[in-house]
Formats: sequence, structure tokens, C-alpha cells
Amino acid sequence: MSQFRPSGQGIVVAIDGPSGSGKSSTSRGVAADLGLRYLDTGAQYRALTWWMLEHGVDLDDPEAIAAASLWPRLDSGTDPEAPTMTVDGRRVEREIRGEAVTDAVSRVAGVPTVRTRLIESQREYIRAALAEGPGIVAEGRDIAEVVWPDAQTKIYLTADQAVRAARRGAENGAQDVIRTQADLARRDAEDALTTRPLDAAAGAVVVDGTHLSLADVIGRIVAIAKASA
Ligand code: C5P
Repeated sequence: MSQFRPSGQGIVVAIDGPSGSGKSSTSRGVAADLGLRYLDTGAQYRALTWWMLEHGVDLDDPEAIAAASLWPRLDSGTDPEAPTMTVDGRRVEREIRGEAVTDAVSRVAGVPTVRTRLIESQREYIRAALAEGPGIVAEGRDIAEVVWPDAQTKIYLTADQAVRAARRGAENGAQDVIRTQADLARRDAEDALTTRPLDAAAGAVVVDGTHLSLADVIGRIVAIAKASA
């Protein structure tokens, strides 16, 4: 790992992209390589959704979602080697990857009050990382465009939908790749109502991981970050 702090200034690396593009493994690898913190914004939307499902919030009612979004306390652990997600003091990294959360998260993420709350919290994490050290890799759908438009490095990470489905299926142990692909397509479409998961932000470098190994994708992004710092 190389400690990376160009001219004493912290840096922000924004990595956006659709479901299953390999954002999380890639972002953690980039952060670990550059000695940066790591923020998984999708985990925050998932954690809020998990809490709402646990508390019986009506997810067909955007007003109920908006009101409930202000109650739980969310904490993201930003060590790229061992990121954590805590809701009201409970660790939920495993729970938030379950099917119920994955099916419902786009509905929660589409409510403006939810986005306002989480985006403000994401900016706090980024400010703290810049104040304390060399900076942060933040991954999501809207980092480069909305959360931190001043990011020095903006990456749009994508891959063919069939490849994304195969990878996501392998991660989840899913047998049914066709179904996983249909689920991805549905989530891409639902997310497109709120963010632009299938488009690169202005100024973002597009990295297509369809034919690249994880190590190659990480290496490319590390090189881009070093060149743009
Ligand atoms: O990245 P991940 O698949 O874990 O994200 C889960 C969901 O959270 C996305 O499908 C999307 O609905 C929402 N999300 C978002 N904005 C972000 C990150 C995630 O709306 N920055």
C-alpha cells in the first residue's frame, strides 16, 4: 500500500456504476492500495431499507418512508479492509444483502427526504476523511454528480448486463442466472427514476470491466487517480 497524499491535500475518488458492476470490490481495492478510507453509500440505503422492513414501515407509502427515514441512527465503518454498517448499534452487513432488502431498496432510495438525509451524511464522511487524512473512495450511483462534484477522480464502472448478472449470482450463490439478470434489469430501471445508473457523469472516465479481472480494474483506477491528483 502506498500512502497517497498529493501536495498535502486529501483526495476524493468517486466510483459510480450500476448493480453488479463490481463497484464494491473495486472501490475497496482502490482505497486499500492508495491508503484511503472507503464509503459504501449503497450500504446506507440498504441499511435504512432493512430497518424499515424490520419495523413494518409501509414501503408503498413515500410519506411513511420519509418520516421513518429520520429515526434510525446509521454508522458506516470506512476501513476498506473491513467496512461495517451499523443501525442503532446493531451490525447489519449480512442482513442488508438479503433478497427482501435488495427488492425494496430502490423504492426507499427514490424518496427525496431519504436522499437528502443520506447525501448530507455522506458528505460528512467525506469531509471527515479529508480533514483527518489522505481522503476517501466513495462508491454509489450519484457520487460524482451530486454527492461530491469536486471529486478529483471520477470513475464510471460498468460491465455488460449478462456479466454483471453472472457475477452477482455467483456472489449470492444464486442458481438462476436468468432471474438474477431480470432482477438487475428491474433495479437498473427503478434506480434510473432517481439517479442515472446507466450513464457516466460529466468528466467521469468510463471503465468497462466486462473483459477485465478485478486486479486489472483496480490497477487501472489507481493509475487514473494518481495521474489526476
Ligand atoms: O450499490 P448497491 O447495489 O448496494 O445499492 C443499493 C441501492 O441503493 C441501489 O439499487 C440504489 O437504489 C440505491 N443507491 C442510490 N444511490 C447511491 C447508492 C445506492 O440510490 N449513491
